[in-house]
Amino acid sequence: MYELNICHLYPDLLNLYGDRGNIMALKMRCVWRGINVNVSNISIGDKFDAEAYDIIFLGGGQDYEQEIIQDDLLNQKGEEIRNAVKNDKVFLAICGGYQLLGSYYKTWDGKEIHFLNALDLWTIGGKERMIGNFVFECDFLKNDHYDGKIVGFENHSGRTYLGPGVKPLGKIIKGYGNNGEDGFEGAIYKNVYCSYSHGSLLPKNPALADHLISVALKQKYKDFVSLSGIDDEFENLAHDTTIKRIMG
Ligand code: GLN
Repeated sequence: MYELNICHLYPDLLNLYGDRGNIMALKMRCVWRGINVNVSNISIGDKFDAEAYDIIFLGGGQDYEQEIIQDDLLNQKGEEIRNAVKNDKVFLAICGGYQLLGSYYKTWDGKEIHFLNALDLWTIGGKERMIGNFVFECDFLKNDHYDGKIVGFENHSGRTYLGPGVKPLGKIIKGYGNNGEDGFEGAIYKNVYCSYSHGSLLPKNPALADHLISVALKQKYKDFVSLSGIDDEFENLAHDTTIKRIMG
């Protein structure tokens, strides 16, 4: 029987707009297929051993929470996180958590917060927030039955820019995404997936949830080939109706 260990990093501080929903979606989509899942909550002061986990999750946080965890993140867990990224560990990082994996965040009022430097990306705060439901398109999810469209909810003042080695997660169809300028959303580097889309990301986009589960299982089990299909009637309804509402 397959088993996945998921780590929710700083669940008490990085969990905006139901980001925990992403963990629930990963867990239930495994459980429905008979795959065992353990979820561990690791926060400030807790020992973090990345090797113990197959998927590491970082949710969103306002500038305030990002400052609170900065010391623990950089000085206690930083090296472990950077090594895990290098060693192809699967990560999902949302909004504030996405920004934390980059090199720094310059807030709109001029404060510069140093971050992990695990991915070549950086964030500059603007006065205007980028808020709303948005739609983007992921080429790596496209197939004969699916157009690769992802629907989500964003709320950030940070504008994120990607260095040359980091690819965007998708192309914006409606909304702002990384910075409201270049037409891209999120980031992919090795097995690290980052997005500005909050807690409804995986519940409303089962293809992306299954992609992450598959990558994690492939990393762990040599004999893993593909996931069995499950009934996505409600997930697809949520996905399709939200896209229709946004696109008009
Ligand atoms: N503090 C960050 C910003 O506003 C992230 C906010 C969030 O995670 N929603 O850009």
